[in-house]
Amino acid sequence: MSAAQQSGRVDGHCLCKQVAFTMDAPKHLDACHCSDCRRFGGGPFIGLNFAPVDFSEDKGLRWYRSSDWAERGFCSNCGSSLFYRIVANPEQIGVMSGAIVELPEGLEMTKEFFIDRKPDYYALEGERTRMTAAEVFEMFESLEAQQ
Ligand SMILES: [Zn+2]
Ligand SMILES: [Zn+2]
Repeated sequence: MSAAQQSGRVDGHCLCKQVAFTMDAPKHLDACHCSDCRRFGGGPFIGLNFAPVDFSEDKGLRWYRSSDWAERGFCSNCGSSLFYRIVANPEQIGVMSGAIVELPEGLEMTKEFFIDRKPDYYALEGERTRMTAAEVFEMFESLEAQQ
């Protein structure tokens, strides 16, 4: 059993550690292939389920408003791409998987978003729900209607 599985928490940090945090161990991963995510991270966004994050260091943390509804968090010192959050719900943060020190073993990727925006030069193997841009926007609209 890994340390993450024993404590139920995981640690994360940027390259220079001017952003460092802990959070509950994720239940699953998702990927996003939209052009904003690929530009922000230099490749597909592979992120943890949205959850509260406890910062032990946030000296380097900056948020960039990347759209009307979302912000992306990064380290202003080392440039690491770290976070995504919805402006209307800032306590719930999507964390890029690469920022986590040790993820639980066997973590499953459950969804891929904006599959129709994915370039041909890579693909993520395995079977899972793959949603087009139209399907993603439809899901967000139905979530908003419920609130
Ligand atoms: Zn940093
Ligand atoms: Zn995206």
